[in-house]
Amino acid sequence: MRKYLFVGNWKMHKTLRETEEYLGIFLDKLGDFKILDREIIIAPPFTSLALAAKLLKKTPLKLAAQNACWEERGAFTGEISPVMLKEVEVRYVILGHSERRHLFGETDEIIAKRVFGVYKFGLIPILCVGETLEERKAGKTLEVVERQLREDLKYLQEIKGEDLVIAYEPVWAIGTGINATPFQAEEVQSFIRKKLSEIYSFEVAKKVRILYGGSVTPENIEELMKEPNIDGVLVGGASLEAEKFFKICISQIKKGEPR
Ligand code: PEP
Repeated sequence: MRKYLFVGNWKMHKTLRETEEYLGIFLDKLGDFKILDREIIIAPPFTSLALAAKLLKKTPLKLAAQNACWEERGAFTGEISPVMLKEVEVRYVILGHSERRHLFGETDEIIAKRVFGVYKFGLIPILCVGETLEERKAGKTLEVVERQLREDLKYLQEIKGEDLVIAYEPVWAIGTGINATPFQAEEVQSFIRKKLSEIYSFEVAKKVRILYGGSVTPENIEELMKEPNIDGVLVGGASLEAEKFFKICISQIKKGEPR
């Protein structure tokens, strides 16, 4: 019922030449592959979006931005407006990524404004939430994730469900080579769906896609995707090589029984 979602977050990687080269390889591999049950999304740096939009025209791949402001225009040095992103065919925006929270000090209040802002202009927020290692060790994982969800979604009151994506990204798993086990990810992701049904409704929560992110590779994707509340993945490091990301995107999906 929920379309699977595979998102490649390039972070601050790839020049225009590298973008063109990557997409050439990826599209070549994709060929006539049928990907009807899933969406594949690339999130390049802002400078590559216009080129990527041109190269991805008439392909099933879609674009995400790695951040966005809540206003259409104005005195917001260093920010990009959702309207500008729509001009270059962006459909999704990654928000609240742990690197934005921890390296650039983005607070839940700022993230909440961004989430509502991009939504208001018709883009789909991919809201990232997740605990640090200290928080996990202190047994605070669910508390932290619930707080982030409630605070970051506080301005987003009326949604349908298909128009929101949550990515559970434990900070200790991002770029470390240590992924959460399928059991750990499912535990938090089923909790996220429960919280979404409290915040919105059961009907809405059923339609929200919940991704897992943190050291996803072609080797661990199939185990992770067996979990009933893992609707896709947000991939950093392994999305930087076209061949690797392609393998992840075309992986077999066989859902297991709810735990
Ligand atoms: C990310 O950047 O969101 C991420 C999950 O990175 P990695 O796959 O490298 O852990």
